[in-house]
Amino acid sequence: DLSDLGKGKDDKVLVSVRVRPSDKTSAWNVAAGNGTLSLLPGFTKGTSQPSSGKAQEFNYDAVHTGSANKPIYNSVARSHVCAAMEGYNTVIFAYGQTASGKTFTLSGTDEEPGIIPLALKDIFGYIRRTPSREYLLRCSYLEIYNEAIFDLLSPQSLTTKTQVQLSGTGDNVQLSPLREEVVTSLKSVREVLERGAANRRTACTDWNDRSSRSHSVFRVVIESRERGASFDDDSSGRRTPGCPPTPGGTRLQSRGGRSVQTSVLSLIDLAGSEKATSDRERTMEGRYINTSLLTLGSVIGTLAENAAKGKSDHVPFRNSKLTRMLQPSLSGNARISVICTVNPDANAVTETISTLLFAQRVK
Ligand code: ADP
Ligand code: MG
Repeated sequence: DLSDLGKGKDDKVLVSVRVRPSDKTSAWNVAAGNGTLSLLPGFTKGTSQPSSGKAQEFNYDAVHTGSANKPIYNSVARSHVCAAMEGYNTVIFAYGQTASGKTFTLSGTDEEPGIIPLALKDIFGYIRRTPSREYLLRCSYLEIYNEAIFDLLSPQSLTTKTQVQLSGTGDNVQLSPLREEVVTSLKSVREVLERGAANRRTACTDWNDRSSRSHSVFRVVIESRERGASFDDDSSGRRTPGCPPTPGGTRLQSRGGRSVQTSVLSLIDLAGSEKATSDRERTMEGRYINTSLLTLGSVIGTLAENAAKGKSDHVPFRNSKLTRMLQPSLSGNARISVICTVNPDANAVTETISTLLFAQRVK
């Protein structure tokens, strides 16, 4: 049932935390209902936290625990997926240290589908319930590794290391060559995702390791137009059942006499946020990863602050491939959801705090 699509949180930037289950000693008191996490006494020493006397508390739009993906999808992704259908560019990120649950949250498993399949299911449901418009969905799947972009849907890109090039600037960034697959059903989306994963496994012997050091980007370009419309209708009063009205910002272009609405939904499984662990990483990969995650933090943080305070501070999009590629999707009226995944174990406290601080910075 999509009738409640669009209800719930509809902030432009949502920042949430997901705490993965664990049977080890936890360092955290998690009050999911309040959206807070606090360090348990005894774990506050030796951390970079101010010793204010009371346990350090962290606050977010939402905090989730447990193994069900549907609640987190409904809470921090669904309204944004709805916005993407209404013409807003939308980006959903999973950020966190390796093994904290980024892939579980975004992709999930056959038994427990994650945000990507849940989003696509809603998208196809939305299309079925909107017979007045016709839609075209095109998917692409790419990987950013050591500041190079590879097309996961093109085996040649991975094996011959043909990079996808970024060209243009600002809101006109283009990616090429990049394969885009038209999808018409959830099944065809699954095939695209599986093909990307298979290409990666075949081409990269170290794919498991590499997948934690690279960003995976699944993009859906959503195009739609009024069915049978004979004139350019750019009135923002158009409504789809179950969605709030869209107060402008809808990207409309005139094409072939009919207005085409285009938006991009990007679902991004980021590289592990942990500090470099080997010499190799400290010198090469780690540096790239740190730079791009740091840049992502300052880009989203600056955008959020500019929006909140009506400022126009410089946004450092150009400092990394990821943010440069996402510039059209992050600026303007974009919808952003950052899901930070953490491991509650006592032995992961330092990385967990670093993830929680990232989450605070982007809000
Ligand atoms: P990451 O992508 O951040 O490296 P994964 O998503 O691969 O981490 O998670 C590591 C392991 O923990 C996987 O086996 C995954 O299925 C499991 N896992 C992670 N989060 C959860 C969760 N919330 N509930 C159940 N299992 C989880
Ligand atoms: Mg992963």
